[in-house]
Amino acid sequence: MSDTPKSFGRKSIQVSHTPRDLMAERKLVDIWTAKIITLFPGAFPGVLGESLTGRALKEHLWQLETIDLRPFGIGKHRNVDDTPAGGGAGMVLRADVVGPAIEEAQKGAKGNWPIVYLSPRGKPFDQATAREWSRADGITLLCGRFEGVDERVLEEYDVQEVSLGDFVLTGGEIAAQAMIDATVRLIPGVLGNEASTEEESHSNGLLEHPQYTKPAEWQGRAIPEVLMSGHHGKIEKWRKEMSEKITRERRPDMLGKK
Ligand code: SAH
Repeated sequence: MSDTPKSFGRKSIQVSHTPRDLMAERKLVDIWTAKIITLFPGAFPGVLGESLTGRALKEHLWQLETIDLRPFGIGKHRNVDDTPAGGGAGMVLRADVVGPAIEEAQKGAKGNWPIVYLSPRGKPFDQATAREWSRADGITLLCGRFEGVDERVLEEYDVQEVSLGDFVLTGGEIAAQAMIDATVRLIPGVLGNEASTEEESHSNGLLEHPQYTKPAEWQGRAIPEVLMSGHHGKIEKWRKEMSEKITRERRPDMLGKK
């Protein structure tokens, strides 16, 4: 029984071993770069090493660097956190630890380069943010742990707070990977089919229409006839109507926005 969690751990280390080889050893200038400040550099590239984002990483369409927070820790034990001023539960990442890590990350960060703290208090991440970040030169993402980071470090470096959604994660790493994924797929060449990012959900203020593929009939369900008609005008019209219907039903809040 006691072996189960251990072998689980080993397994996940093996799985992430190969993708980690994809990460930048020799830093390349002039390609979109995500710099991640984290206590868990082993969590990267994680799922970003797979499929389209992984292939694009290999092809140097973007690069990933982790900055391990631990070596910036204080004293023999490299402590990175301490108890909250004013009391209360948990631990807070120290400004004099996170600050130098941000300085290290910003070396070589030139041009338009936002510094972001992943935080449930932040502005909600959305497609417009992904698009904006994909047009920047790169981004530095600070992953919090425990109760978060000392507020002074956020003020000092003009850090933007961005949230993955209205829920609380144990750390910023999963949020960072989700946001990088959404951003990197908008970098030209990553998807291999530029047009597909223009028509999908959230790009045009609507949710996407239903999609179908072969077989033409499955479990007695046929593909809507119009899609088999070959009539592009009618297909276009049907897709637009379905997009609007689904958006009205599921996300009426989106309709007023555009
Ligand atoms: N005490 C904090 C929560 C800390 S959770 C609060 O109440 O606001 C620990 C870390 O996980 C945070 O520092 C942050 O980096 C990350 N995190 C948690 N939820 C997140 C979310 N919804 N979006 C982005 N990052 C999040």
